[in-house]
Amino acid sequence: MTALPDMTEPQIRRYARHIVLAEIGGTGQARLIGSRVLVVGAGGLGAPLLQYLAAAGIGTLGVIDDDTVDLSNLQRQVIHRTADIGMAKAESARRALADINPEVRVQAHRERLTAENAERLVGAYDVVADGSDNFATRFLLNDTCFRLKKTLVAAAILRFDGQISTYKAWSGASHPCLRCLFPAAPSEDAVPSCAQAGVLGALAGTLGALQATEVVKELLGIGRSLSGRLLTYDALDGSFEEMAITKRQDCPTCGA
Ligand SMILES: [Zn+2]
Repeated sequence: MTALPDMTEPQIRRYARHIVLAEIGGTGQARLIGSRVLVVGAGGLGAPLLQYLAAAGIGTLGVIDDDTVDLSNLQRQVIHRTADIGMAKAESARRALADINPEVRVQAHRERLTAENAERLVGAYDVVADGSDNFATRFLLNDTCFRLKKTLVAAAILRFDGQISTYKAWSGASHPCLRCLFPAAPSEDAVPSCAQAGVLGALAGTLGALQATEVVKELLGIGRSLSGRLLTYDALDGSFEEMAITKRQDCPTCGA
């Protein structure tokens, strides 16, 4: 975490509803302003995540996405506009975030997360939020965040179902990682994509906003972490459920 900056008069007004919260206050808001968060994917989850994190005044926001905006994205990726079709998503997101909060420094990474660049990209941030759409990226992020001792807030959505958890297995024996939950990555054709199976647009908003909330909690160290708990949302049923994730001693990433 970087040093806590002093706040200007406009900053105090912009963040007044945070500052009045006893759990955040001026010190907490200054900490958010001094924080760096990496969002992987400027898609359905990344859109609300980035919007709320920028509005919250996170000082540096990294956006990784190598894709361009397509007409079929606009049903749920609300950070992009019709006029942005064909533009790189990372650039479209950067433009949108500058409109929401010009004080936020947005670093647009127009590349795909790979084993070669993961440590460089993840290492420059305090907390990582995974809004990617494939298991290869999810597992790579899990392993990289574990090695670099970065907190990972990960969510996934498909059809009418969403799930979210926080992984910081490096912080103690009671904290599991993604591979404790899924020891092996399913093959890409075993799990259908949103393009194949569909996804309710607003579901991305629900899960992305939950991710933004958990990122802020982790940055500030307030409330109860989702580490060790998988929160699932069934939109058709209108219900949330919670399942415990236990650390596996034989986990290939975080096991003994
Ligand atoms: Zn593990």
